Amino acid sequence: MRPSRALIDLDALRHNYRLARERHGGRAFAVVKANAYGHGVLPCVRALAGEADGFAVAFIDEARALRDSGIVAPILLLEGVFDTAELIDAARLDLWPAVHHRAQIEMIEKAVLPAPLYVWLKVNSGMNRCGFLPGAVHQAWKRLVVSGKTKHIGFMTHFARADEPDCPVTGEQIRVFDEATHNLPGERSMANSGAILAWPGARRDWARPGIMLYGADPLPREGNGLQPVMTLESRVVAVRELALGEPLGYGGRFIAPRPTRVGLVAIGYADGYPRSAPDGTPVAVDGLYATIAGRVSMDMLTVDLTDLPDAGVGSEVELWGARVPVNRVAQGVNTISYELLCNVKRVAFEYRGGGN
Ligand SMILES: *Cc1c(COP(=O)(O)O)cnc(C)c1O
Repeated sequence: MRPSRALIDLDALRHNYRLARERHGGRAFAVVKANAYGHGVLPCVRALAGEADGFAVAFIDEARALRDSGIVAPILLLEGVFDTAELIDAARLDLWPAVHHRAQIEMIEKAVLPAPLYVWLKVNSGMNRCGFLPGAVHQAWKRLVVSGKTKHIGFMTHFARADEPDCPVTGEQIRVFDEATHNLPGERSMANSGAILAWPGARRDWARPGIMLYGADPLPREGNGLQPVMTLESRVVAVRELALGEPLGYGGRFIAPRPTRVGLVAIGYADGYPRSAPDGTPVAVDGLYATIAGRVSMDMLTVDLTDLPDAGVGSEVELWGARVPVNRVAQGVNTISYELLCNVKRVAFEYRGGGN
């Protein structure tokens, strides 16, 4: 069997959820959109079921899968609904849609619903991606009230730069949100992972932790007690010696600067490891530091084992996990942990822990 797998530590997931909720206070939606950031949504949700106050997904298909698997906790739809049929389903399944543009309000006004809706009115407090401008919030709220179709109207906003602890923009977004919702009744939700960790002023009724649940710290300074959830690993399946000056792999990008022992590892970009990883990207071979040498291929990659004489065929290679933080790999390829984790596919997924 191809020795490539994503090991998912469900106890770490639960630890991180508890930590997020403790840091924030109040309640917390576990954000499990995009297949739980690539970790496999159903096992993750099952591990959190006794614990999480609610879940958040991007859109209704993701929520249906949760309801189908028996989840009765609140489920927030971060993108809201796209048409009236979805709105009716949302009411029937007691899903909590975000309402972030006028067409969604019109849909609610016109729809014949099987039950009243719990909605979250989204305020554009400065990210300028979606949501109602501060000056339009009161009227949007009023239209929802007058529609008679809602049982609760919460208020939410999203931060553009919560992962920058020294940036004044987040403080300003908090101020704008509070002013726009001043005197309106209903629950509040602002904080994503970055804000939970760095912006105590953003704490309200509900937090929305995503990436921190999976143990990847969104902040530049780490050490927040998070535990990595995914270990992406494979094994060395062949070893070869390169003479000084010999090229390795596609494009001959790596030229042996010395006699070099190269390990061939059974994982590649079709499994979600980034093709753009440069020579020198860290990996752990049998727990010891080594680096990528040569371009990552679709099904394989190569690592420099010259300094690890004990490593050879069968050695375990961690691409990211407890020894190689996914953030380190992400930095090297100009992206964020989110994208790397979401992209993992084709490998076997194995789950540990998570029992109640
Ligand atoms: C994805 C998402 C989150 C979670 O963000 P993290 O940075 O992963 O914690 C929270 N709120 C909204 C609206 C989102 O889209």
